[in-house]
Amino acid sequence: MKLDADIKNQLAQYLELMEGDVLLKVSTGSDSVSEEMTDLVNELASMSSRITVEQASLPRTPSFSVNRPGEDTGITFAGVPLGHEFTSLVLALLQVSGRAPKAEQSVIDRIKGIKGEFQFETYVSLSCHNCPDVVQALNMMSVLNPNITHTMIDGAAFKSEVESKEIMAVPTVHLNGEFFESGRMTVDDILAKLGTSDASEFEDKEPFEVLVVGGGPAGASAAIYSARKGIRTGIVAERFGGQVNDTLGIENFISVKYTEGPKLAASLEEHAKEYNIDIMKAQRVKRLEKKDLIEVELENGAVLKSKTVIVSTGARWRNLGVPGEAEFKNKGVAYCPHCDGPLFAGKHVAVIGGGNSGIEAAIDLAGVAAHVTVFEFMPELKADSVLQDRLNSLPNTTVIKNAQVKEITGTNKVDGIDYIERETGTTQHVELQGVFVQIGLVPNTDWLEGTVERTRMGEIIVDNHGATTLPGVFAAGDCTNSPYKQIIISMGSGATAALGAFDYMIRQ
Ligand SMILES: Cc1cc2nc3c(=O)[nH]c(=O)nc-3n(C[C@H](O)[C@H](O)[C@H](O)COP(=O)(O)OP(=O)(O)OC[C@H]3O[C@@H](n4cnc5c(N)ncnc54)[C@H](O)[C@@H]3O)c2cc1C
Repeated sequence: MKLDADIKNQLAQYLELMEGDVLLKVSTGSDSVSEEMTDLVNELASMSSRITVEQASLPRTPSFSVNRPGEDTGITFAGVPLGHEFTSLVLALLQVSGRAPKAEQSVIDRIKGIKGEFQFETYVSLSCHNCPDVVQALNMMSVLNPNITHTMIDGAAFKSEVESKEIMAVPTVHLNGEFFESGRMTVDDILAKLGTSDASEFEDKEPFEVLVVGGGPAGASAAIYSARKGIRTGIVAERFGGQVNDTLGIENFISVKYTEGPKLAASLEEHAKEYNIDIMKAQRVKRLEKKDLIEVELENGAVLKSKTVIVSTGARWRNLGVPGEAEFKNKGVAYCPHCDGPLFAGKHVAVIGGGNSGIEAAIDLAGVAAHVTVFEFMPELKADSVLQDRLNSLPNTTVIKNAQVKEITGTNKVDGIDYIERETGTTQHVELQGVFVQIGLVPNTDWLEGTVERTRMGEIIVDNHGATTLPGVFAAGDCTNSPYKQIIISMGSGATAALGAFDYMIRQ
């Protein structure tokens, strides 16, 4: 294997940025992946005098670890990190050589402060868009903290390991040999999941004038509009960017012909950082209560106070709620066709739900899967006719209407679906290996129980100023009863709620 000329040129420029020596310890055999890996590490060494290569015995073959001479960092690549993981390799070389990772000081301090032994393993595919974020976050954590190690494992090179662990979604992260999480995660998400947050960090915070809960398009917009009024603004969010992080291509964000979710999520944060906004990431809110001020309690026990609060906690995938769904999550049950579709290449999959997102998912999956069966509860599909026509033009799709999914079957992983033909009441079975649930979204508002009025579906009821039924509490975006859920609509309603909160304050 030889790197192509363009990549080599770019790589040469990056390698010049290395600040110290790097030792690649390589464990290879006689298979073709080992040969590719040997070529790659030798090519790297030939391009920079700072890189040396040494044969070693590592837990997996073929693999190589990226170390400082005399000091193992714990970063290992099992499989050849090309495709989407090539950037992960370049960053690992730079960071191990001594270049500071691009992360906020507070994040670096939190990583350095982690105690205990953490051996992370991330199963990836080289075509996965979401995997590099996770690999790069965990590699950075390994560089910064000697108690943390991380191995990226290319599922295609370690097929039997992936099969024996029944990994059916990438990225899937294991920690100390146990399942940790799957799907796209930022370093903030990982730190939040590890529970590294300390309530004392929040003790000295003065009350806010506007506190935004949620950092998706609605929350970012609300915070920017508030800060531009010169009022003391904070934003607390579990995952900055929200659902946008899970979106691949965006073509309807007016004035931008095409962008991608992670890019837009990064721009939201960058824009918010231009203002005097106290951004508190990787924090989950669990309670809201109105006293003299409005109090918002975080999962870690800290209490933030504010004159007004704008809730913009968005929505998450709705579950089917049938036997087998929870048991086989990531073992054949999936929610994100863009992310997990490639793992079902050549297999028979189902899409549950015949709305726009279900039919879009079915069309997308038909490109990789052997066959796609769409199950729709109602007698007709609800998707736009243009999507239905496209689906019907594909040779490897079937639509079963008027069907109630009864159970997702399997032993260790999905092997089929039992459904009831609603017209006849008879139960039928279809054998398949994957199930994509696409039956809409559920608002993230459970934590508001007993505070603001919500619809039967849990959506927060707002007036045309974004005000809820609790004075001083406003809401915006997908968590509200707005009839349409889109990025541009969320941003607009975030702006409305911010201006509504400002009006409310000047009248108090
Ligand atoms: C796969 C996919 C593709 C999509 N494609 C498009 C598209 O092409 N165009 C388009 O316009 N729209 C698209 N959408 C819809 C769009 O992403 C949403 O309408 C939009 O993100 C909603 O923004 P929001 O800010 O209201 O909520 P979200 O984006 O859901 O953000 C919610 C925020 O609240 C945080 N949060 C939730 N609960 C808590 C808590 N308890 N404590 C603290 N923080 C919390 C979350 O971490 C996040 O920061 C897509 C959605 C998905 C899932």
